Amino acid sequence: MSKKSTDALGRLTNALKVLPNVGPKTAQRMAYELLQHKRAGAEELVAAIQAALLQIHHCRLCNTFCEGELCDICADEQRDSKRLMLVQMPVDVASMEAANCHDGLYFVLMGQVNPGQGADLNAIDLDKLIIRLQEHEIDEVIIATNFTAEGDATAYVLSQLLTNFPAKITRLARGMPLGGELEYVDAGTLAQAVYERRNVK
Ligand SMILES: [Zn+2]
Repeated sequence: MSKKSTDALGRLTNALKVLPNVGPKTAQRMAYELLQHKRAGAEELVAAIQAALLQIHHCRLCNTFCEGELCDICADEQRDSKRLMLVQMPVDVASMEAANCHDGLYFVLMGQVNPGQGADLNAIDLDKLIIRLQEHEIDEVIIATNFTAEGDATAYVLSQLLTNFPAKITRLARGMPLGGELEYVDAGTLAQAVYERRNVK
């Protein structure tokens, strides 16, 4: 038997380590479980991953995940296109929509700045954001990053970036629990933080 064919298990184990918080031991357990008890599930997993990789892209305007050129929110002409809320992840858009407190559009940064690493700007999609801001008329940018150290660092980088941008810049009010990630904040508190947002510039 060639080395390659005997290595299928090793390859699977290695591939599983791409998942967040999965180290070598967990990856090995997952591989055994898939092969021993979950073969049908494993086939569905392969098919689902392939379909997702093929069909899901970033929305041309807001950068979230979607299947068409634009997501449903960006395609909705009823929304206030002059108010743009900056959030870290697609799940934050879902939280805001559930709280029903923002009728403008979004831009999803797809990450955060780590304050410990001297503000690594590559962690967020700043280039796309700059293009988005330059191409469309915007009256207000609402910075809605998490109330964590990383969210604060990201908000700081964004407010510096937007200093010369000719729009009102606001940030969510500090009504939320310290260390709070938007996705775990209840809808009422989130709505309050949006209504009471304060001027950054
Ligand atoms: Zn969109």
